[in-house]
Formats: sequence, structure tokens, C-alpha cells
Amino acid sequence: AQVLRAQDLVKTHHGEGAPAHAVRGVDLTLRQGEFVAVTGPSGAGKSTLLHLLGGLTRPDSGSIWLGGECTDAYSEARWAVERRKRIGIVFQFFNLVSNLSVADNVELPALLAGASPRQARTEREELLAELGLVGKERSMPGELSGGEQQRVALARALVNHPPLLLADEPAGSLDSKATREVMRLLSRFHRRGQTIVLVTHDARLASAADRVISFFDGRIADDAELDGTPSRG
Ligand code: ADP
Ligand code: ADP
Repeated sequence: AQVLRAQDLVKTHHGEGAPAHAVRGVDLTLRQGEFVAVTGPSGAGKSTLLHLLGGLTRPDSGSIWLGGECTDAYSEARWAVERRKRIGIVFQFFNLVSNLSVADNVELPALLAGASPRQARTEREELLAELGLVGKERSMPGELSGGEQQRVALARALVNHPPLLLADEPAGSLDSKATREVMRLLSRFHRRGQTIVLVTHDARLASAADRVISFFDGRIADDAELDGTPSRG
């Protein structure tokens, strides 16, 4: 089954200086259960692509289908609703809500998606146990190590059981031990069927995936199953 399809995505950033042609025509199909790494040098457009796939940024042109449904006509509000159900996202700098406890950070998306407080608590307890964070429920994000914060962010991303997990340089601000831990967790969720897109400039981390997309200058330069054979579709 197809989790997400992107067709001819284009995105140019207009900042201070010259326009940055970050994504220049990307076609991509993500199938259920795939662990896809998007790798390539800094500035290649990987982060922009991930933001497009997660609906955090609108493309200048091109389309995204989620679960077979075209998102072209989605309002921001509709995107927010669909993202909450269908897409979990983790970032390099965690983006936890700093004035909410660990428990509240994880429960919030569940509550916003309509879970009862009891359901949200149960999900949160299961995820925090799974991620080795029992005893940290009442901590504030700023009291945790980077590795712990990223595990909280993973719990928050997965609390609504989204079909797709997007990870944007999730180990980019972690030491090597915490990096191994986050990669181990991604692999574990993948083995259970979680579809994952991992953006990383680190080719060693990309090798944990079963499909590696090399991104260069806003385009897919190579798209291969890890054994080296070109992927289908
Ligand atoms: P995030 O907060 O998730 O990183 P942003 O949209 O702020 O999302 O940034 C996405 C990426 O683009 C980051 O790698 C950031 O460093 C880079 N970036 C953001 N703003 C600019 C800019 N004005 N010029 C160049 N790069 C930028
Ligand atoms: P990568 O994740 O591969 O490092 P990015 O998607 O962050 O690449 O950036 C691609 C290009 O777009 C870069 O030239 C970057 O400076 C630019 N860019 C990214 N985000 C922004 C932004 N919010 N505003 C302006 N330029 C940006």
C-alpha cells in the first residue's frame, strides 16, 4: 500500500539574498513499511523536502497524496488535522514545548486528536515505558539530556499511531551514544511496520534504512534499495 506520493514538487525560498531553489522537481512514492533515508550534503534541500512531505511548507507547485487522497485543496487547518493523524515528525532540536512536562508533551497531540484523557494517558504510559523514560513523566524538557528529549519527541510523534514518521536529522544534535539509541529505536519501530523517512547528511546513519535516496541540488540523484538494485516506481 502507498502511504504518501509526491509529484513534481518544487519549492524556492525567497529570503534575504538570492532565491534558494531548494527542491526542483521531486517525484516520490513511499510504500507502507519502508524505511527510507534521504541523504546528501548540507544545503541540498533535504530539510525542505521533509517539510513539504509533512505539510509544514506548501510547495510552489506539485502535489502530495496522503493515503491516496490529494492534499492540493487542503487548508492549513485541514493539514493540521490530517498531519496529527497521519504523520509524526521529529526534528534535530526536538521542538518540545518547554513549559509543559514530558507527560503533557506526549499527551497533547492525542488530546488534540480527540482521545479521552484516559486514552491519552494510557498511550503516553506505554510509549514512555517503551522508550525508557519511566520516572521522567513530571520532568520538564530542559531538565533532560538531548537523547532523552529526542525520545520524548519520538513518543509525541508516535502517540497517535501515524502511518508515517518523518525524522529531520534526529541525531544531529546528539552525542554518539544517544545517536545509537535513537537509531536503534527507529530500526525497532521499522521492524514493527512503521514507515519512516530519515533525513540525514550522515551516510553511515542512512545505511540503517532499506532504501536510500541521494539528494543533490534539489533533486533525487539516486534512489536505491540498500542491496544496490534500483527501487520500483
Ligand atoms: P526548522 O526550524 O525546522 O529548522 P526552518 O524552516 O526554520 O525549519 O528551517 C529549515 C532549514 O532551512 C534549516 O536547516 C534552516 O537552517 C534553514 N534556513 C532557515 N531559514 C533560512 C534562511 N533564511 N536562509 C538559509 N537557510 C535557512
Ligand atoms: P538541507 O536540509 O539539505 O541542508 P535545506 O532544505 O535546509 O537543505 O536548504 C536548501 C536550500 O534552501 C539552502 O540553500 C538553504 O539555505 C535554503 N533555505 C532553506 N530554508 C530556507 C528558508 N526558510 N528561507 C530561505 N532559504 C532557505
